[in-house]
Amino acid sequence: MQFIEALKLRSKLLFLFILITVGLIVVGFMGAININAMKKNVDSLYFGSLVPVTELNTIMQEYHGSLASSIYMAKNAEISPSQTYATIENSLKHIDAIWKSYQSHFKRDDELQYVEYVDAEMKKTHEYFQRVLKAIESKISLKYLSIAALESHISHIHSILEKLINYEVEVAKYERKAFLDKYNSSMAEVGIILVCIIIAILLISYSVFRSIQNDQTKLEIATKKLKRANKRLENVSYTDALTSLHNRRYFNFIYERELKRAKRNHNYITFMMLDIDFFKQYNDTYGHIEGDFALKSVAKVLKDTLKRPSDFVFRLGGEEFGILLADTDELNSAKLAQRICDKVREREIKHETSNVHEFVTISIGVVCCVADDALDEDILISHADKKLYEAKQSGRNRFVISSNVSEASIKKSGELIA
Ligand code: GH3
Ligand code: MG
Ligand code: MG
Repeated sequence: MQFIEALKLRSKLLFLFILITVGLIVVGFMGAININAMKKNVDSLYFGSLVPVTELNTIMQEYHGSLASSIYMAKNAEISPSQTYATIENSLKHIDAIWKSYQSHFKRDDELQYVEYVDAEMKKTHEYFQRVLKAIESKISLKYLSIAALESHISHIHSILEKLINYEVEVAKYERKAFLDKYNSSMAEVGIILVCIIIAILLISYSVFRSIQNDQTKLEIATKKLKRANKRLENVSYTDALTSLHNRRYFNFIYERELKRAKRNHNYITFMMLDIDFFKQYNDTYGHIEGDFALKSVAKVLKDTLKRPSDFVFRLGGEEFGILLADTDELNSAKLAQRICDKVREREIKHETSNVHEFVTISIGVVCCVADDALDEDILISHADKKLYEAKQSGRNRFVISSNVSEASIKKSGELIA
């Protein structure tokens, strides 16, 4: 069954189909052969034995019923000579015709010899009746005909024909037995072949379906692996390699989705744009490698500060980060922005050349509003960018929040910074 395992699903089904078809053809073929053989048996039983027996009985009947009785009646003057003549002539013709038909059937060698003997004896008997006919023609009265001679002829031919009939009956019995034996053995043969084919089909079907099931399981395992690999790939393609935050690609995907959701439910949506202050100077002072460490530290602070499942933190590029919040009103967005500024500064990443603070600081531009259909995709980003610029202009290490995206003039920087 190994080779079935190796086949593809389509080939397996084709194989099963071919097997069932071949099985049915073989059963049909065997059935046809056996039915044909039985037909021959029935034929030989009927035409080889039963018909001959009937024919021989009819001949016997003719000798007794027509020939002998017509002579008895003629002798007793119960029928006229002409009637007697006609009856004898017709009976002889009838006997000849039936005898010819009997002889035409198939005969075994031993039977053939006896049939020839019977033929010769019948001819002799017929000669006797021919002589009777001649006597009638010559107007000789049948009154003087010897009954003893008639009976001797009739009983002789009777005993000969009886032997032949017994022989044919024996043959018929033999043929019947042979027919029944053949029928039984044919049925057994067909039954055995049928059972073998059914068992073979069941075994192979089981093997094919088991192998299909194995394929299915393998396919399911492969699909699961592929899904996991895809998920990993997707994660990689949505993750920033340096900070392990979501990257710009993921931001584009999530931003659109969250904006639509907020619009649908008329909920608050908050977008923050963050930028490290004087980071160029940081790099110049400490080098790029230290700069990367600083970026990672800031990213860690952001991750640790934003823990709700609906909060998203992105590295948008360079030393710029983005934060997307759902269901957060203006006050809470402002509090959160302030906390982020504080936490980054409190991380105490040394920045000697900063014009703002001895440690690394960030500036944040925040836009928070209730989303409606008028809210354009780019408005939030461009307003957050403007607010970030304002935060930079107004001294850095702070946030500027706007809730009016159409005007973007409401400034709350300073008031909320403790
Ligand atoms: P400002 O306060 O106005 O933002 O000043 P800034 O110096 O931060 O502004 P600017 O945009 O001019 O400088 C950004 C710097 O960030 C420039 C670049 O050297 C640095 N930078 C961007 N991406 C990376 C990075 O992946 N690693 C490191 N180490 N530095 C980066
Ligand atoms: Mg920048
Ligand atoms: Mg900067």
